Amino acid sequence: MISQKQILIVEDNEINRMLLGEILSADYQVVEAENGLEALSVLKERGDVISLILLDITMPVMDGYTFLSIVKKDPVFSSIPVIVTTQSDSESDEVAALSHGASDFVAKPYKPQIILHRVASIINLRENAAMVNQLKYDRLTGLYSKEFFFQKVKEELARHPEREYDIICSDIENFKLVNDVFGLPAGDRLLREVADFYQSQVGDKGICGHFNGDQFAILMERRCKYTDEMFMEATARVNALPNAKNVLVKWGIYSIEDRTIPVDQMCDRALLAACGIKGQYGKYFAIYDDRLRSRLLREQAITECMESALREGQFEIYLQPKYSVKEERLSGAESLIRWNHPEWGLQSPGQFIPLFEQNGFITQLDQYVWDRTCAFLRDWDSKGYPQIPVSVNVSRADIYNADLANILLRTVHKYNLPPSRLHLEITESAYTENPGQIIDTVTHLRELGFIIEMDDFGSGYSSLNMLNQMPLDILKLDMKFIQSETAKPVNQGILRFIMSLARWMNLSVVAEGVETDEQLERLREIGCDYVQGYFFGKPMPEDVFEELMKKTDREKTGGREPANYNNIKEKQTNETE
Ligand code: C2E
Ligand code: CA
Ligand code: CA
Repeated sequence: MISQKQILIVEDNEINRMLLGEILSADYQVVEAENGLEALSVLKERGDVISLILLDITMPVMDGYTFLSIVKKDPVFSSIPVIVTTQSDSESDEVAALSHGASDFVAKPYKPQIILHRVASIINLRENAAMVNQLKYDRLTGLYSKEFFFQKVKEELARHPEREYDIICSDIENFKLVNDVFGLPAGDRLLREVADFYQSQVGDKGICGHFNGDQFAILMERRCKYTDEMFMEATARVNALPNAKNVLVKWGIYSIEDRTIPVDQMCDRALLAACGIKGQYGKYFAIYDDRLRSRLLREQAITECMESALREGQFEIYLQPKYSVKEERLSGAESLIRWNHPEWGLQSPGQFIPLFEQNGFITQLDQYVWDRTCAFLRDWDSKGYPQIPVSVNVSRADIYNADLANILLRTVHKYNLPPSRLHLEITESAYTENPGQIIDTVTHLRELGFIIEMDDFGSGYSSLNMLNQMPLDILKLDMKFIQSETAKPVNQGILRFIMSLARWMNLSVVAEGVETDEQLERLREIGCDYVQGYFFGKPMPEDVFEELMKKTDREKTGGREPANYNNIKEKQTNETE
């Protein structure tokens, strides 16, 4: 039967071989060898299925002890238990056998029941040990498995209450990509290489474990200081492994202070720290602390309720007016999102947009903003207000959406609007990240009739010589840039230069974050086309914005009150903050 366990009998005496074979063959499959050398070649051929070796000592060609010492040095075969058959009950033979690494001995003449019992119990013992080992070590990498790592850490901490330890966990940010691109075997190979790397770094000074997938953990004595350089170097070494050139490793550190916290929780915290910096370029490691803890808890709370919040209409669109400098009149607006949470109150975008950009929810939210904005425009048109355009923000995740143009087109068509009523604000940093892709997408959007504004221009990402390659209609100057430029003497800033560059490229210019009269005057003087900022109006709910529109409308139809921004400013309802 194929499922029978195999026993190798090594014995030069044919009669003895037969006797042993007779005793064992009822329960086992028996393989025979006449001396040590022959036995070695049997092991080479089928050593992986041999459950036990019965070994004679005195044999020609290669004796039992020589065979035994070779086998015990071999990493693969050393775990096969060996029972030595001794000539007599002599104690010195038995001691010699055991000291060479035999598991047990049986004396000649053979007593069948004793042999069968010893063989069975030793095979059993070995199988149990193998099972324990399997639980102890991760099969892929040979490092400690998760559970056993926890156990070892616990023991180490208990053994050395005087030492200070850290747990360092790592997570490979784009490991899935390695599997997808190079295949699972390559992914496994990489994990083994990473494991070797960890083991070699830690040596016997720490404990290494491999958790699920691409997560590793180390317990080490605390270093005085962790620096970016240390982890950059470690990442560079991982990158030098085969198929790992673009692998990004994020490291999280948990400094063990309170030893009553379960080890698995310590590891969770280190991993949380590592995952918290996913997607953050140039960030290699993070240390878990209470601030991180509350941030992560908050992010978790946001993630849990964001979808229902969208369904329940908790996201509200505020509009911030834009004015034409020359005509001093309302000329447009920007849609800015607010989250009116039933418990947390009104949340500004800074508190949730970065998270949504990370977890991808931003695309859904943006589409909602585009849809609501078009609904406003339709409604205002039907009320006969001036047909101003409104700009919406297009985040970088939207740009990578192959369906972006269709989605936008469907939205304006749904409300029977020409695409030119929607201005698309795309942040300057998105332009620099992937110029090729963005040029294609934006060129297409412009061909469809959308107006493109480069948002946050001057915040320091793009070079001026990139500008003329970019398909654009409007430059929107960044608030910080405006505020620092308008603080300088006229002839020391570069505002005037940017204006003439924009003129030369046929672009209109919007200045954002205009807060004072002086800033407005400076912008007027250099010929800026549009302004937006608290000086004129904060972002406001739609009904308040509608009041502004009514005024503009009245002025247009000959009403007495002109809708210039000096008037509007005094009637401003401040945004609740
Ligand atoms: P942004 O697109 O640069 O929007 C301008 C921000 O500056 C707005 O902040 C606005 O309230 C603020 N602001 C305008 N004038 C002034 C001023 O005179 N002084 C000061 N100190 N601030 C001024 P907000 O509404 O908090 O939005 C922050 C950012 O969140 C936006 O920056 C934009 O990047 C993002 N955001 C807002 N709504 C959306 C949205 O619907 N989709 C996407 N993708 N991003 C959005
Ligand atoms: Ca914007
Ligand atoms: Ca901006």
